Amino acid sequence: MESYWFGARRFDEFCRQTGLLKTVVSDRLKRLIRNDCLVKVAYSEKPRRFEYKGTEQFLDLFPMALAMLHWERKWSQKPNALEVKLTHTPCRAATEPLPVCKSCRAEISPRDVSWKVGPGVGQMEATYSRRRRQTAESGSNTKLLDEVIRIVGDRWATLILRSLFSGINQFQEILEDTGMATNILSDRLSELCQERVLYTVDVPGDSRRIEYKLTEKGIGIYPILLTLLEWGDKWRPAPEGPPLLLTHNLCGKPLKIEMACSACNKEILVTDTSFELKISNSRGDNNGKSGSA
Ligand SMILES: [Zn+2]
Ligand SMILES: [Zn+2]
Repeated sequence: MESYWFGARRFDEFCRQTGLLKTVVSDRLKRLIRNDCLVKVAYSEKPRRFEYKGTEQFLDLFPMALAMLHWERKWSQKPNALEVKLTHTPCRAATEPLPVCKSCRAEISPRDVSWKVGPGVGQMEATYSRRRRQTAESGSNTKLLDEVIRIVGDRWATLILRSLFSGINQFQEILEDTGMATNILSDRLSELCQERVLYTVDVPGDSRRIEYKLTEKGIGIYPILLTLLEWGDKWRPAPEGPPLLLTHNLCGKPLKIEMACSACNKEILVTDTSFELKISNSRGDNNGKSGSA
């Protein structure tokens, strides 16, 4: 998906940009087609050749991509070989995408959001896969959304974060809230602590027990989960209604997130951005690439 935002449309472009094996790229493209996110269209008849086009629901994931980019830039501790300069074409300024409330346009912090359970709330069914977790080691080092994908791309880590954002902080409670297996939960909790997304404190009055808390870096993941929640409510709605009802306390309105331009505070649309990519390799020279999604 990241490659798509940076202009990849053809199979060999996805392979080159991701550095992944052809079989992996082919499998993931098929999966995106099955989920109505991409369509395969012929761009040449003789010989017959295809490219991939994002559907409306795929393009609706653009705010999530921007929220991820914002987090990665702010919090990733790893040096990244890839740098991107985004320009908001309507105001022509170099822009940093910021998560704001659609109603009052203030930057969103989870501290200003209250929530209640909606009609469509349900517990996610626990399914287990023996497949080893995909890590970022595979492929090249030219991935922009490296650290954030390792966290948000992991179903269990995301469920743990959901619990923490709803004020659930102790091991046993998180276990009940997520329906995870004990070993997977302790595994993910220690990984999230290592990543400095979480930290632990002693439970007051009970020194044998600890609580998990979100660091500032962890709190920074909130807008990404909001974009996912809104996308899910729109494209994969539960028949009963939304699972979660959020209110922005600063304006009192139902919370809707928008990724806004740091220069002009208007929404950054997929059609309104251009980018410049810089890859610095070990010798320190640069390969430029630019375009628009
Ligand atoms: Zn607001
Ligand atoms: Zn702007």
